[in-house]
Amino acid sequence: MSAQAATKSFGAAQVLKGVDLEVHRGEVVAIIGPSGSGKTTLIRTLNAMETVDGGEVLYRGEPVGYRKTAGGTYVPARDTVVAEQRQHIGMVFQQFNLFPHKTVLENVTFAVVELGKLNRATARERGLELLGKVGLAEHAAKYPHQLSGGQQQRVAIARALAMSPEVVLFDEPTSALDPELVDEVLAVMAELAAEGLTMVIVTHEMRFAEQVADWVVFMEDGRIGEQGPAERIFSEPANVRTRTFLDRVK
Ligand code: ATP
Repeated sequence: MSAQAATKSFGAAQVLKGVDLEVHRGEVVAIIGPSGSGKTTLIRTLNAMETVDGGEVLYRGEPVGYRKTAGGTYVPARDTVVAEQRQHIGMVFQQFNLFPHKTVLENVTFAVVELGKLNRATARERGLELLGKVGLAEHAAKYPHQLSGGQQQRVAIARALAMSPEVVLFDEPTSALDPELVDEVLAVMAELAAEGLTMVIVTHEMRFAEQVADWVVFMEDGRIGEQGPAERIFSEPANVRTRTFLDRVK
């Protein structure tokens, strides 16, 4: 998927000022940069949680959040079209966003059953398999409040995977966690990356980005200040502001 000359304003404030981004299949893209630079807004445009007001975001050649009319023009899509696109573009949020009154397993299987992707029994089987993958099989019958933040976030990752998406977006997935719970979530994400899942991750975890990302995007003030292979960005950033940022946070 890609963003081309993507712009987005909230009222008078232009938060994305023309962003070009290419996400290749099987790659991990880390989006880093100072607070308020537009990282979260950018990742939210990739699954139409925000729609761009200039330029475009494309998935399989189609604008995300829009549908084509019979006349060939694009208009903002109704929920059903967006829901279809989101089946391929999973998302994990900073605050987990689990359903509090559903069990862990129901959280994982709810959408696939609701959308008729899998029948209840197969969804259950698949849900348990995914919970095993994130190390939580024995917690399947619990409710989110009975789990730690790190465990809840791993449930959210299993939920995102349940739809077998092509891409998973992670918006600061460890920022709401106590420090001692961060690593268990990053370990699961590193494993998914090693398996070849396409991932886009907004993160403040520089060590993780350096070790796991293939491509790093440095955002500053609504623009991409610099992007390139993780190895190069972290060892010899070309932009002095990338260097200043990394010196400050590393
Ligand atoms: P952080 O690292 O602090 O999460 P960020 O780089 O992810 O920051 P964004 O969350 O994308 O930055 O926000 C960029 C700017 O857009 C900020 O000034 C923010 O206040 C503003 N903004 C974001 N969402 C909205 C909204 N829904 N309405 C108005 N302003 C918004």
